[in-house]
Amino acid sequence: MRFDLIVVGAGLCGATVAERAARQLGMSVLVVERRRHIAGNAYDEYDEHGLLIHRYGPHIFHTNSERVFHYLSQFTSWRIYQHRVRAMVDGQLVPLPVNLDTIAALYHVSVDEPRLQSLIQQDIMAVPRVENSRDVVMSRMGARVYEKIFKNYTKKQWGLNPEDLAPSVCGRIAIRMNRDDRYFTDRYQGIPSQGYTKMVERMLSHPNIHILLGTDFRELRGSIDYDTLVWTGPVDEYYDFRFGKLPYRSLSFQLAYHDSEFVQPVATINWPNEYDFTRVTEMKHLTGQFHSKTVLMYEFPQSDGDPYYPVPCDESQRLYLQYQTLARKEERVHFLGRLGTYQYYNMDQVVAQALHFVDTVLGR
Ligand code: FAD
Ligand code: UDP
Repeated sequence: MRFDLIVVGAGLCGATVAERAARQLGMSVLVVERRRHIAGNAYDEYDEHGLLIHRYGPHIFHTNSERVFHYLSQFTSWRIYQHRVRAMVDGQLVPLPVNLDTIAALYHVSVDEPRLQSLIQQDIMAVPRVENSRDVVMSRMGARVYEKIFKNYTKKQWGLNPEDLAPSVCGRIAIRMNRDDRYFTDRYQGIPSQGYTKMVERMLSHPNIHILLGTDFRELRGSIDYDTLVWTGPVDEYYDFRFGKLPYRSLSFQLAYHDSEFVQPVATINWPNEYDFTRVTEMKHLTGQFHSKTVLMYEFPQSDGDPYYPVPCDESQRLYLQYQTLARKEERVHFLGRLGTYQYYNMDQVVAQALHFVDTVLGR
């Protein structure tokens, strides 16, 4: 058997490469996926009650890239949705990202209080060089916000202190001196109307694309001929962990069903300081489903299990660079995606990366 292109992994990154290679470049493509379904971590499906569940955690699409949004819009229409998150702090639900209402609640003053901005300014610490996730929060939001919202959540989520994580981790969460309580402010935001799996199914539906599910590529090595291989699995795994295992943070998900339409005021409630879980998401806020039942998804961080998050810290970066050096020497093999390039990427970023790869390498 021979293909122009083999794509390992049927997540959003792999699906974008496969789709463009087949439709735009006319290549024959084999997609190999070790799970029994497509769509990678964005996979969603209906459960036994008819509720649509994001099986690997809540996924909200957001981007400022017109190109990425228009590209995906060929395969789906969108449910317009703006994500809202609250954090449970000392028994109060406060908006996240931190905004004027959050500051008022944490400092026990009215939101009309004219000193609101100076209250937080007093707590902000001058950090000459922002080197880690503690620095980034202390220098932007100050000690109170750090202690109440970031310190313990980050320890739970990563199993590391914020001091040991790159600034980019906590730097994902902004502070706003207004009352905007949307989690994301990107120009395009939404959820695929019929779900992510349907969207990816349409991307991969082409006579030139063959899909092999439930198959680890390593079982096929040597038995299929190809010109180019795109690997979107963990980069260290491709090299049989030659330099040691890259750390990935994993999660376990627990579902709780309720016989009512809604139980949370917003989609996600973060629990920075209590319990072993980090956040609880009520899927129906995202999907917009009408149903007499509702389901909550609890996220419990753990070190073992499926690799969900690359861990942005100095040590893992040093190890990744060793793998990256090997990867750059490959002529026929290219590494892409959140796991293949060991980057804490959102969905739009892996699609952008895949489109760029097709422009600059595959279609050259
Ligand atoms: P993946 O989706 O991980 O796909 C890689 C695929 O490769 C997997 O299906 C895997 O089974 C397969 N594979 C690996 N090794 C092999 C092998 N040897 N052989 C065959 N197949 C293999 N992003 C957002 O934009 N918004 C969000 O709200 C959001 N929420 C998230 C919530 C959670 C809990 C997590 C974990 C991630 C979230 N993300 C979110 C990030 C998003 O999931 C990723 O950016 C995106 O799914 C990455 O796509 P990918 O194709 O690179 O990787
Ligand atoms: N974070 C936190 N408290 C919160 C929310 C986020 O400390 O209530 C930190 C934490 O380290 C987290 C990071 O900010 O991993 C990024 O948060 P985000 O919600 O973007 O994480 P993701 O959705 O990727 O899991």
